[in-house]
Amino acid sequence: MPEIKVLFATSEIAPLIKTGGLADVSGALPAALRSLNIDVRVLLPGYPKVMAQLGPNEVVANFPDLPGFPPSRLIFSIMANGVPLLVLDCPDLYQREGGPYADANGHDWVDNALRFGLLSRIAALLGSSASPLSWRPDLVHGNDWQTGLTGAYLSVAEGAVPNVITIHNLAFQGNFRPAKVELLHLPPASFNVNGIELYGKMSFLKAGLYYAYHITTVSPNYAREIQGDELGFGLQGLLRVRSEDITGILNGIDTDEWNPETDKHLPGHFSPTRMTGKAICKQALQNRMGLEVNPDVPLLGVVSRLTHQKGLDLLLEIAPRLMELPVQLVILGSGEPEMQQSALELSQRYPGKIAAMIGFDEGLSHQIEAGIDMFVMPSRFEPCGLNQFYSQRYGTPPIVHNTGGLADSVVDCTPETLKAGTASGFVFSGMTTENLFVTIQRAVALYRDQRNWKMLRKNCMTKDFSWKSSAKSYREVYLKVLGWTK
Ligand code: ADP
Repeated sequence: MPEIKVLFATSEIAPLIKTGGLADVSGALPAALRSLNIDVRVLLPGYPKVMAQLGPNEVVANFPDLPGFPPSRLIFSIMANGVPLLVLDCPDLYQREGGPYADANGHDWVDNALRFGLLSRIAALLGSSASPLSWRPDLVHGNDWQTGLTGAYLSVAEGAVPNVITIHNLAFQGNFRPAKVELLHLPPASFNVNGIELYGKMSFLKAGLYYAYHITTVSPNYAREIQGDELGFGLQGLLRVRSEDITGILNGIDTDEWNPETDKHLPGHFSPTRMTGKAICKQALQNRMGLEVNPDVPLLGVVSRLTHQKGLDLLLEIAPRLMELPVQLVILGSGEPEMQQSALELSQRYPGKIAAMIGFDEGLSHQIEAGIDMFVMPSRFEPCGLNQFYSQRYGTPPIVHNTGGLADSVVDCTPETLKAGTASGFVFSGMTTENLFVTIQRAVALYRDQRNWKMLRKNCMTKDFSWKSSAKSYREVYLKVLGWTK
């Protein structure tokens, strides 16, 4: 079978630049695809953090006068995991302090349409006969709204290859004023219900979903949910029309980066058959976070964006009741100011019992996954979610809401599932504080029964979360889009 060549366009990639799950996927899926003999190269904006971490590199293309955009160039390099990178260096758009999408105060960059318009434009250019590179992809695979215009540009390009888009979160759509259509040199006729228009705005994600040959999303359950009114975020109509072209593929995880036997962030290491290292991690975490050091009290944890989506308002609300069980709670996250504030207030009200760290800290996130006993993830919606995988792998049964990828990846613990060896956490339906509380209570009760708890932990740790089977599903999608037989 001929090798498939794929240009994978993304706005973040671990470990170079990360704000959420998209970075984890971009950091691991291309490598998994390469091991299936797919020649993937990743296109990524040259933010300061990315430029600073590049290994040996060379400039392979210059775009001094692309209509509508400042001068840019492409730099070729290779990631530590062997994946080739094409870094889109455009100092006017990307060389600034702050995050990929917002400044240090959390305000979106005012030129985001141009910043990610360029990313989409270059992705399309590399997938057309106008490409200056000798390496030409058979297909362009974009991710989320930041690459959403790729299909729109490809639709008017000479010698264009087909494209696929993956939705990591439908709630972020990249909607802008219609005037941007002209600014981005898109054909005026594309500002149409059959094109890039969404309720009077120009929408990157709508364009992505409209023009893509195929749409994937990060779990089978979420693929169904987004076609309904509740979780379709205004795009359910289009998604229903395109139903035949949507595939849900559950994310895997980077099993090298997230390995409790070797994790460089941990003070102790452990495996399903040797768990003493986990107790060391718990003690170190309690110490680091100023919690009372006590091996016996159930330690609950959260690592998350602190936003309405993640449902942590429910957890914060019931925290005083949880203290009576008793449990300890550690929270790492950043996001909405009120939620940050209430997490900090709880930590002051319950010193030694609740600890909160506001910020983004990769090392601490690993230490929390390893050191806690239960991970709490009551998301209102969750396209896939990654922390429920990490926690299972680290012997930390997750407590999750029955939605999206959480429903696809956590099996509720009942006497039957425990006996069958499939139980891997605690799942609640109905987004209420009471439902969350009784589910945590259920988890704490099982924790008190250490024989069963150890069985549950072992189930979690022996599940296969590698990218292997998901990468194969992406290959199926590519073959289908290309019309190639296996
Ligand atoms: P989302 O992409 O919606 O934020 P996911 O669960 O898919 O949620 O992925 C979130 C990723 O970001 C995980 O790897 C998680 O550990 C990480 N993460 C989120 N918040 C923080 C934080 N404050 N510090 C460190 N890592 C974080």
